[in-house]
Amino acid sequence: MMAHSKALLVLENFIGGKFVPCSSYIDSYNPSTGDVYCRVPDSGKEEVEAAVKAAKNAFPVWSSKSPLERSQILNKLADLIEHDLEAFAQAESKDQGKTITFARTVDIPRAVYNFRFFASSILHHTTECTEMATMGCVHYTSRAPVGVAGLVSPWNLPLYLLTWKIAPAIACGNTVVAKPSEMTSVTAWMMCKLLEKAGVPHGVVNVVFGTGAKAGEALVCHPDVPLISFTGSTLTAQRIMEKSAPHCKRLSLELGGKNPAIIFDDADLTQCIPTTLRSSFANQGEICLCTSRIFVQRGIYSEFLKRFVAETKKWKVGNPSDPTVNVGALISKEHLEKVRSYVKKAQAEGARVLCGEGVDSLALPTGNQKGYFMLPTVIAEVKDESCCMQEEIFGPVTCVVAFDTEEEVIERATSVKYGLAATVWSSNVGRVHRVAQRLQSGLVWTNCWLIRDLNLPFGGMKASGIGREGAKDSYEFFTEVKTITIKH
Ligand code: NAD
Repeated sequence: MMAHSKALLVLENFIGGKFVPCSSYIDSYNPSTGDVYCRVPDSGKEEVEAAVKAAKNAFPVWSSKSPLERSQILNKLADLIEHDLEAFAQAESKDQGKTITFARTVDIPRAVYNFRFFASSILHHTTECTEMATMGCVHYTSRAPVGVAGLVSPWNLPLYLLTWKIAPAIACGNTVVAKPSEMTSVTAWMMCKLLEKAGVPHGVVNVVFGTGAKAGEALVCHPDVPLISFTGSTLTAQRIMEKSAPHCKRLSLELGGKNPAIIFDDADLTQCIPTTLRSSFANQGEICLCTSRIFVQRGIYSEFLKRFVAETKKWKVGNPSDPTVNVGALISKEHLEKVRSYVKKAQAEGARVLCGEGVDSLALPTGNQKGYFMLPTVIAEVKDESCCMQEEIFGPVTCVVAFDTEEEVIERATSVKYGLAATVWSSNVGRVHRVAQRLQSGLVWTNCWLIRDLNLPFGGMKASGIGREGAKDSYEFFTEVKTITIKH
């Protein structure tokens, strides 16, 4: 461990309604300066055991509360987070490297909305009932919370994605043990400070901080945690499936993507170009839904490329706390090196880097020289089989290639292992429907990107995941259904 000159922020686990120190800690870095600024508990089996025990003890009382009582508590928690929105946004930006603007307008408002949304939706579910008059029977279904839910979340949208799991889990009457990413734990810890005031009973929400290998795996392997909701990489999901198999756990897996944007020659480029810039580079390209393969119909390929590159060059990279900055810092030094290595590989394969990494120079403010920054990068003439077109890069790098026909682009867009999200740009409604139907993708946005109605299913096909989240889908995941038959 390095010597620390400044006073560090020290986090504690939140178990059974109390903050509990840990015997060992992990350093957490500020990605925009490269400095260690926080210490995160390095929890393991012992801490997870205590958290699961607290969650189990809290379950009988919490699960027997009415949906309305739970709803009121969730709404109160939403109000409290919203009241501290600026402090949460500052913390998220510092911890993750994302711009303060993104944290203020996307991450924290969405975390608030996650609680409000499930506080409302839990009041509106109905169950099924059928009559079998000839047999003198009525059948109906009833739904009950499952028990202790294990929630594991990634570093790219820390509080946003963690609350997207906590809110439905507790709205349905489960109690939870959550493990945020060890790289971005601060806002989860801040949220724990508000739970008591919101009226969340002790033990309903427990948060154990630490690495995936130690704390995450202890949670996944715990016999008293019957369901795991995981968002993260496909590789980790495979490990989680393996580890939870002996217990036959219920799994929801939201994983990586290699998302195409398909741009036909009748697309409205005045809408398409700014949206495709955002879909490629928002949050430093560190969103599972980010576009990383842009297929442009040949007739408009040159024009698109010229305008897209010119606009990319206008995106400002720098200190995330500067509200005029568009691209903040990547999450870690290792991740930055990994993202850069993809650009090098593309160059070695003969692709053309049109702007960004290795082509343009990046001037950073004095205080950010050791931060993990890179310029948004556009690569052209990449072969479909190249790793840049096949693997998830998860950084500000996008590849642009030309296509000729609808049939051809559907085939090329789907020939990757992932199937999370796609965008289609065309003013021909018939074509938009045809292409959307045929793409192997859990989400298809046409003539837009990232507009979500939380009522509807979210999730990926193929290596992008198993299961869906949303009003009905999360309700079904976090409850167990029973069919009851009454004969009179
Ligand atoms: P990751 O898989 O490395 O880690 C995710 C979480 O799992 C972290 O909390 C980590 O500590 C934990 N973990 C790691 N190993 C574990 C193990 N063996 N057992 C239990 N837990 C373990 O992913 P990441 O790098 O934090 O996040 C980036 C990935 O997440 C990208 O692939 C991205 O596409 C994906 N993602 C998907 C969605 C979606 O909704 N589909 C959303 C955001 C991010």
